[in-house]
Amino acid sequence: MPQQICVLGATGSIGLSTLDVIARHPERYQVFALTGFSRVAELKVLCLQHRPAFAVTADEASARVLREALRAAGLSTEVLAGEAGLCEVAAHPAVDAVMAAIVGAAGLRPTLAAVRAGKKVLLANKEALVMSGDLFMQAVQENGATLLPIDSEHNAIFQCLPVDHARGLKAVGVRRILLTASGGPFRETPLAELAHVSPEQACAHPNWSMGRKISVDSASMMNKGLELIEACWLFAAHPDQVEVVIHPQSVIHSLVDYVDGSVLAQLGNPDMRTPIANALAWPERIDSGVAPLDLFAVARLDFQRPDEQRFPCLRLARQAAEVGGSAPAMLNAANEVAVAAFLEQRIRFPDIARMIEEVLQREAVTAVESLDAVFAADARARVLANNWLSRYPA
Ligand code: NAD
Ligand code: MG
Repeated sequence: MPQQICVLGATGSIGLSTLDVIARHPERYQVFALTGFSRVAELKVLCLQHRPAFAVTADEASARVLREALRAAGLSTEVLAGEAGLCEVAAHPAVDAVMAAIVGAAGLRPTLAAVRAGKKVLLANKEALVMSGDLFMQAVQENGATLLPIDSEHNAIFQCLPVDHARGLKAVGVRRILLTASGGPFRETPLAELAHVSPEQACAHPNWSMGRKISVDSASMMNKGLELIEACWLFAAHPDQVEVVIHPQSVIHSLVDYVDGSVLAQLGNPDMRTPIANALAWPERIDSGVAPLDLFAVARLDFQRPDEQRFPCLRLARQAAEVGGSAPAMLNAANEVAVAAFLEQRIRFPDIARMIEEVLQREAVTAVESLDAVFAADARARVLANNWLSRYPA
């Protein structure tokens, strides 16, 4: 029997790469549910291709449109709507694995629903883990869920760690984790020019093709900041044990440094189908469609220390990781508001870090002992960020 897969965020970059890998292995995987938000026409095309049992759209109006279109095409797909629909398909008893590939805080409840149902959860939606770290990892433990990282760096680290790494990094002889970063499109842009870069320039990543939000995060290196926090939760690491290394070729996806001096790395072409196939088939290996790495074409691998003056978001994220509590959720929420405002050309690129820093300075950090507390911190940060925007350009 093929495994039943639920793809949350099927119309996005990770969702489409996931469906590409799944389609290569019809004997192993079957699409059980597909979800999309704004692109209903694209979701319809995906449903016609993969014939899922369920589809989920943003709201009842778009669900009705999709329901009628699929029925007219002879499909019996059940179409649900909204967050309740997302949580229902993520936790459905028939589902074996859930690809969590919704972008941002919107993915937290559906991803947690999959965790609480004890699913195999393929985690691309790093924001969910950043927001709710401790609660999320506790839910994984308590419900016997299997959490597999899709973020290329974390998947690389996962591959370089021993199977019993849950005993603790020290216990398995790990000195530190080296988290690689491309440095994004503005790695060498003169600092004075950053105030004039456009959303299109920010989204033109040199090595990866991704959704617009994560592309801007890569340009500001907030993506690496979120990944630092993600790594701390996934691998029970202290922020001091995670070092960020700029590696412009994006061929080494991260490294693990052991006490005996061995450094293990995972290499490959920058194509998300590799970590997706790795997590889908784990602990086995399957073809992902990714071309073999041509080391002669790569020719050289470069490394640099990140410049925190150029990338203040990295400093802000490291601080939030160290402070803990509600700080990562507030950092994430302020960043989501800032990135959306930058994409709408309401603020300039360097304002992203300014806005986040001011939000974090204005609000006291609290403990987060419940999901409600996480969403309260998220909401407070969004109010402060929107206040900041309403005063802009003060
Ligand atoms: P994307 O923008 O291409 O796709 C986002 C998906 O989420 C779409 O299917 C969209 O319909 C859905 N979505 C958006 N808002 C929603 C909402 N409010 N409710 C429900 N669904 C909603 O993004 P992406 O690049 O595929 O990234 C998805 C996640 O994976 C992000 O968390 C990102 O950080 C992470 N990730 C992406 C990559 C990559 O290469 N693209 C790499 C590592 C991690
Ligand atoms: Mg990554």
